Amino acid sequence: MAAPVYLDYNATVPLRPTVVEAMAAALRETGNPSSVHRFGRAARRAVEMAREAVGAMVGAEGARVVFTAGGTEANNLALAAPGRRLLVSAVEHESVLRPAGDAARIPVDPAGVVDLTALERMLAGAPPALVAVMLANNETGVIQPVAEVARIAHAHGVLVHCDAVQAAGKIAIDWAALGVDSLALSAHKLGGPQGVGALIVADAVELRPMQRGGGQERGLRAGTENVAGIVGFGLAAEIAARELDAMVDIARLRDDIETRVMRAVPAAAVLGGSARRLPNTSCLAMPGVAAETQVMALDLAGIAVSAGSACSSGKVKASHVLAAMGVAEAVAGSAIRVSVGWGSTPADADRFVESWISLWARLGAERVGHAAPAA
Ligand code: PLP
Repeated sequence: MAAPVYLDYNATVPLRPTVVEAMAAALRETGNPSSVHRFGRAARRAVEMAREAVGAMVGAEGARVVFTAGGTEANNLALAAPGRRLLVSAVEHESVLRPAGDAARIPVDPAGVVDLTALERMLAGAPPALVAVMLANNETGVIQPVAEVARIAHAHGVLVHCDAVQAAGKIAIDWAALGVDSLALSAHKLGGPQGVGALIVADAVELRPMQRGGGQERGLRAGTENVAGIVGFGLAAEIAARELDAMVDIARLRDDIETRVMRAVPAAAVLGGSARRLPNTSCLAMPGVAAETQVMALDLAGIAVSAGSACSSGKVKASHVLAAMGVAEAVAGSAIRVSVGWGSTPADADRFVESWISLWARLGAERVGHAAPAA
């Protein structure tokens, strides 16, 4: 059987081989970055070099980088302050929505883009303490006008947090141009290890640490640093920044998949396809066939994609992102996410397109009364 094809880069990106080597080397070293002896100082140097690299990827000084145990923790840290009134976009990741509790939701338009007029209106009443809008959506890849959000929110004296977990490594990020007050990143979405992330923080922000213990990370994130993970994150950030130009080829691959699928099955849909999107992400609806069925059938064919956001438990539930865009339930329930990346090849795209079309011919065409296309 042909080797399996991995098209789920938004769930996690395969580690870059040089990152594996750098992490293995770091794991062989001994040293707590807080120790003053030579072992500790070497570990500290490794952490600080990675801090500079992660900051540089988004054009921020290393001193602004607070390492965390992933994107979820970075978002939670940014939002943590009980009793603060928050305003979050309706399409945020669960790691923003859950800590935001019953915070008001900024609506999005049918393309999935945050409604700036609604934001203005919502800020005009009793302004919240903080607005959270992600840079790019994990399900659709839709890019949000975050610099505009920051401009509008700041005009009302409101701070802005941005979850840039999916955008980092796929589009250029300029901390100064975005103008936000905090920015969440995750190493495993850009070729680094799982369980490491960062929050980039502006001077104006007073964070409420979630763990109590030692004074690591300027007292903002207690606990001995995950040195090998942080080293891997630093190198992955460096590679991602250096290879951003390769995203042109990745976009070509994604566009090719969409063009061929739409040509074969005009009843299919690319959700969020009319908005500015990440170059690697496609949210594809196959009418009449449940997303779970497609994911399982494609898995049997050796192709890994995901249904809905499927970021956490493996459970498939109705997508709040597609619901917020006003996508009909039946269409949303037939949407899978295909996401490509640095290891994807044209042969992978061919395998996906052929399998998807033959799946449609087998399960979809009849159900929705279309003639089955030639696969
Ligand atoms: N934010 C977004 C947009 C994501 O897609 C994810 C993970 O899928 C996260 C945050 C959480 O990041 P992590 O897996 O590092 O906790």
